[in-house]
Amino acid sequence: MATNCAFPGCPVQRIAKYKDVSLFKIPQRKNEFYSKWRKNLVDILSQYRVMDTKSKQQVMECEKTICFCERHFAPEDMELTKNGHKTLRLEALPTINLPTKSQDKPIIERRQIIRQSEVNDTMNSTRKYYYENFTDLCKRVTSLKLNDWHIYVSDNNIIFKMFSPPCIVPQFKVTVDESLEFTIVIFGWLLPDDHMLYKKHYRSVRNITISELLKNIKCLNLCPGVYDDIKSKDLILHVVPCDIDTQVEYDLPFQTIGYERSKNCLVLNEEDSICSNCEKILQKHTKVQKAKSYSPVHPNTPLSKTNPERIIMELKEQRKEVKDLQNKLIKMENEIKLNSSVIVDEELGQDIFKIMDDNSESMSSISPFMKLFWEQQKKIFGKGTGVRYHPMIIRFCLSLASKSASTYDELRSSNILTLPSRRTLRDYKNAVKPEAGFNPEVIQELIKVATPLEGHQRCGTFI
Ligand SMILES: [Zn+2]
Ligand SMILES: [Zn+2]
Repeated sequence: MATNCAFPGCPVQRIAKYKDVSLFKIPQRKNEFYSKWRKNLVDILSQYRVMDTKSKQQVMECEKTICFCERHFAPEDMELTKNGHKTLRLEALPTINLPTKSQDKPIIERRQIIRQSEVNDTMNSTRKYYYENFTDLCKRVTSLKLNDWHIYVSDNNIIFKMFSPPCIVPQFKVTVDESLEFTIVIFGWLLPDDHMLYKKHYRSVRNITISELLKNIKCLNLCPGVYDDIKSKDLILHVVPCDIDTQVEYDLPFQTIGYERSKNCLVLNEEDSICSNCEKILQKHTKVQKAKSYSPVHPNTPLSKTNPERIIMELKEQRKEVKDLQNKLIKMENEIKLNSSVIVDEELGQDIFKIMDDNSESMSSISPFMKLFWEQQKKIFGKGTGVRYHPMIIRFCLSLASKSASTYDELRSSNILTLPSRRTLRDYKNAVKPEAGFNPEVIQELIKVATPLEGHQRCGTFI
């Protein structure tokens, strides 16, 4: 099957660049009507292409080797199918954008052929295209007055350039080739094939005058690219080299202007803002940023259904947490090794009380003193100075301190328990001033203690 247009010099083929241009196979049906149509088509084609009797015969026998692109058919010679595809009207013949560069003779003959064919002449005369062919274009371009544009005419193309100092590469470069197809380059960046400037005029200067095309290009705004400081693999740095003013001192031995663009940047834009394709990248980035600041993934969320970016973030977060915890652990281990005792902060203290509380409720075997002791500890925890201790606690502490003062000191300084200082204990201890011989105050105290007691309970010894 043919993949390119049968007309010599026509660039249209089945590639992405021309995906919007339809290619029509030569009519296939075998009846008198179609044979006649085919013959007319082959006759036109043979004016531009060397075709021997054999190849003519092949076409006549419905070889699927010949295709014509839509650029050679007037709009009224085409119609849309139910599926929205373009198709040729019956008996339609190529009448426009025919190759003209080859020889002069066929051109004259072509006109005769068209007249010979059954194309409506009046309709043909209403069809308007601005340039007949490349020679016509070259001739007419030289008389054009284009202020800001430099024109370079060569054998097979015409180039129009417009500069905007200090940029060294032209701001606009428009190349028109022999087939009158035009290509636009902005600061060295090829305008995408699906740009409306191409679509609107079928990428041919037959459908627009040069001055109009150049004016249209100049009217559009340059997409400034993604100016936010974002990193994305979809962005390309479009660098425009600039000229250097020898009177000025620069930090670098060269000067450039850079634009961060989407690979599909439209470059020229009707609105004076970022183009839609660059905008997409910006939006995608904002979305990712949003996801980054987003709360962690729920533990029950299946990972297969979670956005990979979010999983990565989650993993990073987890790693950080693990590292923090490990550091804490090492720090604690070192502290334990060094001090052999640990200072308990308020939070941990509360936890201990909570555990004791829970236990005191669940364990009926807990002694009344233990209960009292913990209740007291809870009461005085974190109060600092000016604490009033329960007499039972004082008694317990006096007993402890009298057995081993250093053990008591260590227990107290460990801060696991809040205990009265030894000074406080001394005050209690010396409530009765110790003297030699019988002390009336001690006798009074003994009477007070012994009164509620009975029988042998009252027996005691003085040391
Ligand atoms: Zn073609
Ligand atoms: Zn853009």
